[in-house]
Amino acid sequence: YMPGSNTAERPQSLPDFILVVIQDLTENRRLERMRSDFVANASHELRTPLASLTGFIETLQGPAKNDREAQDRFLSIMLDQAGRMRRLIDDILSLSRIELKAHVRPDSVVDFCEVVRHTSDALSPLAKDLNVTIRLNMPDQAARVMGERDELIQVTENLIENALKYGSEGEFVDVSLSAQSDAAAATGWELSIRDYGDGIPTEHLPRLTERFYRVDVESSRALKGTGLGLAIVKHILTRHRARLDVESEPGNGAVFKVFLPSIIEGEGTDEAAST
Ligand code: ADP
Repeated sequence: YMPGSNTAERPQSLPDFILVVIQDLTENRRLERMRSDFVANASHELRTPLASLTGFIETLQGPAKNDREAQDRFLSIMLDQAGRMRRLIDDILSLSRIELKAHVRPDSVVDFCEVVRHTSDALSPLAKDLNVTIRLNMPDQAARVMGERDELIQVTENLIENALKYGSEGEFVDVSLSAQSDAAAATGWELSIRDYGDGIPTEHLPRLTERFYRVDVESSRALKGTGLGLAIVKHILTRHRARLDVESEPGNGAVFKVFLPSIIEGEGTDEAAST
């Protein structure tokens, strides 16, 4: 019954307004499900190194109490397991911080070139350890994009680190940044990171950015992976309206490409670049 309708016909017991709320509960349920799956997976991942630590502590208190050589060996494994727990916690916190900002657009001007050079320098000790050479191919001018510098460093770091870890010993990792137009003719900067390792079987490609998804769990554990790196990359890129493409020919390495749109006139200022 609407106000102004024939009140003479209106039964006294009915209210003036009825508010109908239609909400898509399936989407809510899906998100709820994802959240609880994530908590379950994260707990499981943390429990594994924790169980190992507990086991070694018990051994050190009991059977290995007086065995100096075993003690040294176990302590070094325990340090690795503690490191694994720290990496998992860092990545879980990182993901949750990025999720909180999911709907806030980055608003400073960043030179993507500087980000790539900075990251490549920071990773050069790891490259040296793994006997891989990072080969940079950069444009002459600055690559100005709207972004958050720390997050773009995190994206570049995760992708180059993966190329180093999963690439081939004694080989190159090619990192190039160039001006490009994407399929929709938008202009922007494309960062391409190519390694010459074993590559990724095609059926795994669509799932790589899922949390805790790893192609080969044992090798990824050995290479100190958490399975969260590409999920973090995807979340950051979505917030930057950027795209991630992956191509791989098994046996012939993998290429990860990031496309960041150029700055649109009037977006951002030079002052923002200095923040
Ligand atoms: P992780 O911490 O295990 O490296 P990521 O989320 O960064 O996790 O990557 C997910 C999985 O994708 C990795 O475990 C690995 O199996 C695969 N992967 C990522 N990058 C590469 C690459 N450059 N070459 C081959 N496999 C890769």
